[in-house]
Amino acid sequence: MTYERRMTRKLRVGDIEVGGGAPVSVQSMTTTKTEDAEATLTQIYALAGAGADIVRVTCNTVEAAQGIAVIMPRSPVPIVADIHFQYRLALAAIEAGVSALRLNPGNIRNETHIKTVATAAKEAGIPIRIGVNAGSLDKDLLDKYGGPIPDALVESAMQEVEYFDHVGFHDVKISVKHSNVPMMVESYRLLADATDYPLHLGVTEAGPLPGGLIKGVAGIATLLNEGIGDTIRFSLTTDPVEEAKTGRGLLEYLGLRERTTLDFIACPSCGRAEVDVIKIAGEANDRLEELGLAMQVAVMGCVVNGPGEAREADLGLAAGRGRGHLFIKGEVVRVVPEAEMVDALIAEAKLIDEEGTEARLAAADVSAAELAQEARLELLTIQGDVNRAEERRTAVAKVASDRDG
Ligand code: SF4
Repeated sequence: MTYERRMTRKLRVGDIEVGGGAPVSVQSMTTTKTEDAEATLTQIYALAGAGADIVRVTCNTVEAAQGIAVIMPRSPVPIVADIHFQYRLALAAIEAGVSALRLNPGNIRNETHIKTVATAAKEAGIPIRIGVNAGSLDKDLLDKYGGPIPDALVESAMQEVEYFDHVGFHDVKISVKHSNVPMMVESYRLLADATDYPLHLGVTEAGPLPGGLIKGVAGIATLLNEGIGDTIRFSLTTDPVEEAKTGRGLLEYLGLRERTTLDFIACPSCGRAEVDVIKIAGEANDRLEELGLAMQVAVMGCVVNGPGEAREADLGLAAGRGRGHLFIKGEVVRVVPEAEMVDALIAEAKLIDEEGTEARLAAADVSAAELAQEARLELLTIQGDVNRAEERRTAVAKVASDRDG
């Protein structure tokens, strides 16, 4: 299932299309000094490897703009220069060959300067993101609205759009970021009604994990599920590699991008668990992440419900009676001693990656399904069948009718 997307204009940031039905892209930002081109490139490569399609770097000094000139020919992804206050640095970044600019209307307020930058971007054929931020909103708008409310953010963005219109520049995407999630969501909804330019989503200054992650998901996913949003960034106070991973993961979980990473699922554990699910799932997750396999893997605490509940998983592991039951698409294919089950899971994941699901199903141990069924029945005898709902309903109804009688 996918969500119907709001139709927007299309633009290109380097070789990445944004808007107009293009896949939603993931952005992140470096934390290095841009003038240190080597350190910045190292981080850009790490971000690209973690799922970033576009990376932003700050351009706050002439040396940073010179750094961009060194970075551009060697970067694996398009680069956006972040400009605050000094419009001349925007011109310098364009000269350095940058793929796009981000301007904050709250701190470049001179109309002539804004138009000069837009004209230069037009000549260079690069887009500009109008990046409105609740924390640095134009003072006049703050006075007019009494605070950084959604109407104020949208008016700031549309004012900038108007300046761009005057010089015939339309290669624009817009963000109206707020650190308050409901305000952020409302700002983007208003903006989506006001314009068909592509939108860059983000909850600004979201903070460290886990709160920052929760805020980012709450705001970004809400809007994506309404079809709003063409490119996203999580603003987390942590290693930016986490931002890229999180952004990519969110889009994959929402079905907006193809799976390229591990989707690890595990039961939350309960009184039926035959093993320490938290420990085993943690170990399996870490080892599988290192392999970088794009598959869904499940770790379930018991064989009674595990294979059935995780039958969609490419590969799964369920514990029971001192053994690990490996299953592929819900079919138990191998039973191993409990002490070896994580190793066996990893080995099977590699084999599925190399040989494919059908080949691994064909190579299943003939006795595995039978052994799993034995363990299941044994556990049911000990613990009872959690799924015998009908029987229990009848028993409850009988007790009630006996009492009425
Ligand atoms: S799979 Fe088993 S252990 Fe895990 S939550 Fe379900 S019933 Fe409990």
